[in-house]
Amino acid sequence: MNDIPSSPDNSQSRDGRPGAAQPHADRPDIDRPGADDPDTRDPGVDRPGADDPGAGDPDAYYPDDDYPGAEQVEEVRRIVEQSSRILVLTGAGISTESGIPDFRGPNGVWTKDPDAEKYSTIEYYMNDENLRIRGWSRRVDNPTWGAEPNTGHQAVVALERSGKVHLLVTQNVDGLHLEAGSDPERVVEIHGSVRGAMCTSCVWRGEISDVLDRVRAGEADPRCEVCGGILKSTTIFFGEQLVEADLQRSYDAAGECDLILAVGTSLSVYPVAALVPHAVNTGAKLVILNAEETPFDLQADAVLRGSIGEILPQLLP
Ligand SMILES: [Zn+2]
Repeated sequence: MNDIPSSPDNSQSRDGRPGAAQPHADRPDIDRPGADDPDTRDPGVDRPGADDPGAGDPDAYYPDDDYPGAEQVEEVRRIVEQSSRILVLTGAGISTESGIPDFRGPNGVWTKDPDAEKYSTIEYYMNDENLRIRGWSRRVDNPTWGAEPNTGHQAVVALERSGKVHLLVTQNVDGLHLEAGSDPERVVEIHGSVRGAMCTSCVWRGEISDVLDRVRAGEADPRCEVCGGILKSTTIFFGEQLVEADLQRSYDAAGECDLILAVGTSLSVYPVAALVPHAVNTGAKLVILNAEETPFDLQADAVLRGSIGEILPQLLP
């Protein structure tokens, strides 16, 4: 068993969030444009679904000079065709076309309501009943419930059915890969999922929809029906550890894949971003499809910018 370079035990940032430590610590020698931009170093980007600060800006999808031409798309299509064990890594950018808001963009959830971050911070959540009550009420109206998978999610399913996907690791908590039909056996939701519910005191787990039905029926802060404990969604909150088995499985897959295909992620969230150098160092090719630059663009065999929903289907073999 390999050591995970940024396992949950040593990846806590100063403020204790999962996986936030030292976004560029493993590449101190790379003088990357924008590396001094406070936004790109902000540990606050490291949370489920929030790793793509510009994902909410439609203009960001079409930078003038970077939109891939047919030749570049064809080159990547060939790389995909020649691969047989692909690790697909996805982030918020693949879900923005499904209408899932990002967290830190101009219209982001946290930009509009700075207090919202507290709803996903375990310490506040466990100790503040009023916060939980507001949190459940917001959850009832979560835009995720009306969101449909888009052509990007469907392209990942098609790639999977071609037999080429070794593992799909997503940083998204919206559950849209599974909704689209990705095989649950091949999906790791590394930051958890909004679609599940769990008890913080016992082993009970269930569907969030059942808990939300209880909220709609008048229970402002529904408790575990087994033990009376506080319930929460199965997303990984700030202050909680990532699931060790999921991390290990992702890291192992990075070491075994022949292509890492990073889609809609700024690759600034650790420990997930550590999968990229691990895969590249063990001989895998790297293709990045993202609206903005990432710290790994220089190491990539190809970088594509543009609409994920438009480009990803064109990469299918
Ligand atoms: Zn319980």
